[in-house]
Amino acid sequence: MEGISVLGSTGSIGVSTLEVVARHLDKYRVIALSGYSRLDRLVEQCRRFQPRFVVVPDREAAATIESKLPQGVDVLLGTGGLSMIASHEQTDIIMAAIVGAAGLVPTLAAVRAGKKVLLANKEALVMAGPLFMETVRTCGATLLPIDSEHNAIFQCLPQGFVCGELRAGTGQPSIPGVRKLLLSGSGGPFRETPVAHLSEVTPDQACTHPNWRMGRKISVDSATMMNKGLELIEACWLFDVPETAIEIVIHPESIVHSLVEYTDGSVLAQLGNPDMRTPIAHALAWPERIESGVASLDLAALGSLRFEAPNIQRFPCLGLARAAAKARGDAPAALNAANEVAVAAFLDQRLPFTGISEIVDGVMQGWTVSEPACLEAVQEADVRARDSARRRLGQRVQ
Ligand code: NAD
Ligand code: MG
Repeated sequence: MEGISVLGSTGSIGVSTLEVVARHLDKYRVIALSGYSRLDRLVEQCRRFQPRFVVVPDREAAATIESKLPQGVDVLLGTGGLSMIASHEQTDIIMAAIVGAAGLVPTLAAVRAGKKVLLANKEALVMAGPLFMETVRTCGATLLPIDSEHNAIFQCLPQGFVCGELRAGTGQPSIPGVRKLLLSGSGGPFRETPVAHLSEVTPDQACTHPNWRMGRKISVDSATMMNKGLELIEACWLFDVPETAIEIVIHPESIVHSLVEYTDGSVLAQLGNPDMRTPIAHALAWPERIESGVASLDLAALGSLRFEAPNIQRFPCLGLARAAAKARGDAPAALNAANEVAVAAFLDQRLPFTGISEIVDGVMQGWTVSEPACLEAVQEADVRARDSARRRLGQRVQ
């Protein structure tokens, strides 16, 4: 039996994770769950899985759920509680599925404790890539990508590839024989919307993804394609390749989850129905395979698969993210922070959809890149970029 703790169990990835775990209660025991809102769902999950710990944001949330929990579940609070469960001795596997920068500290705590870390929280890696990967190496953590594209690439890389591992004797992490990585993305709900109409689209329209059901923040990121930009940065760190070795291709059906091109011209792809239970089950059982509950892929019913180059005018966030990937240092952390503030404002109807890229662009234009030496420096860059984004938001409203 392996112990699993789920950071962000009430979210889209958290729920899918527990669906897979529920099929394999002979293999996995739930040690801890966490939720920030939707506390009723968290209580239901505690009743179903009987964890040892549950983490909520504060005393008020604890008071709301305490009387409804089954016996034997200890309630912990805030980031301290999250880091505690992430590094707890009974936790063998941690699913890092908190959304945004809030996931960084607990995810790093799991890495420091040398756990098997299933990484959905891409923002953590975008913010602190070098520090994160160095910690994976020094603390002997096993890092497995949950993001469907990165999980696909991981599956298509040469057998024996391990994220963060140095190649024996060379002192360099590199992937022999690989020419480039191809990240596919659906193009989101506005792939064909006339660009002139984009300033009018609503949060609900932006959150209606054609193929995937996800949380609201990542749904908006998919609509701007900032999600693919964050994934480009995520891939640079996970696979230790420069951004120039990563190509983005639009694939509206979301069946080919990503591809790896080798020096001999071979291109390997991973295919499947768009359902996060596949990468979750893959990473949970890795290097073995388990049932996920996902239906068989019916290629004949699909008929055809399309691919096209992304249009940077339609998706300016792609260009902004590529520039941040090239700049490295604290540029990705600034990009991520500015994007989180802008997306929250859009979801709150304080900013038009097209304002998201404008705010991020403004923050990045005023950003002087420096090399963050430690976690505190990353967090300081995050705070500074958020302030800059909020200032720009305020100026727009006036
Ligand atoms: P979601 O919004 O559905 O769930 C987020 C979870 O994080 C919830 O449990 C919520 O309670 C918790 N949370 C939110 N703010 C928090 C805070 N400040 N402190 C602690 N906990 C907090 O999001 P999701 O769609 O499940 O995405 C989770 C992560 O996985 C994101 O980083 C996203 O980019 C990544 N991801 C998601 C998908 C997907 O299909 N949903 C695919 C690939 C990657
Ligand atoms: Mg993805």
